[in-house]
Amino acid sequence: MAARPSGTLHFLRVVLVEPSHPGNIGAVARVMANMGAEDLVLIRPLEFPSPVAQARASGADWILEKAGTCLTLDEAIADCDLVFGTTARKRSVDWPSLEPWEVSHGASLTGGRSRVAIVFGRESSGLTNTELDRCNYLVRIPVEDDFSSLNLAAAVTVILYEARKHALQRDRPEGKKDLGELASAGEVARFYGHLESILCGTGFLKDNSPVLMRKLYRLFNRVHLTREEVNILRGVLSSVRECTTGRGQKP
Ligand code: SAH
Repeated sequence: MAARPSGTLHFLRVVLVEPSHPGNIGAVARVMANMGAEDLVLIRPLEFPSPVAQARASGADWILEKAGTCLTLDEAIADCDLVFGTTARKRSVDWPSLEPWEVSHGASLTGGRSRVAIVFGRESSGLTNTELDRCNYLVRIPVEDDFSSLNLAAAVTVILYEARKHALQRDRPEGKKDLGELASAGEVARFYGHLESILCGTGFLKDNSPVLMRKLYRLFNRVHLTREEVNILRGVLSSVRECTTGRGQKP
């Protein structure tokens, strides 16, 4: 088969954890082809390769042929810079969360420079908490609370469509002008650590006040910090430290 040009979402990896229905795998391959994504990884699929998957892929055979299979989530995301875990349920544990359109904004802005994984769970039981621990952010498509579980391929469709919309917007001339390179999840995490230590030092943040810190995470997560902005903010924090330790004070 002739090689296909790189699609709009070539930087995205779709990871399916233990998919049990080959028809869903085929439907996911089809929508990936629609949206311009090509990197599919399957973790312990119940039945793959499968004629059912191929039929449901409706011609997106190259995605199924190139699909990787592996045994663990760690293996599937080892070379990814940013990992999103999708969930139908509202979780009681407070993970950092993004709305689907925020994911796609963040993911599409990294286009070409980073590999972004979006992890989808089992049809029967979704993702485990241990698997969600491997993700930088959780994403829930805000459907009705009392009927929140979408079909696997439908969930992939919504997320990829959001990513595609932002990627297309980014490629328009007016969308390009004010974009800086996004900070990586690691750079943002180090900034949060720095912020927390300074706020503890100034006495603003009392011990055991994770709620306030989490509100600050949310505030910064909303704006998708660029690398330059993180550097500026860390410079501000360093100047606060110098002031509070007296080194920055004028005699
Ligand atoms: N019964 C499972 C849902 C499985 S649906 C549960 O209660 O968790 C299969 C997968 O589709 C989910 O693991 C998730 O990856 C995705 N999905 C389904 N509905 C979703 C929603 N509303 N938001 C985000 N992802 C969703």
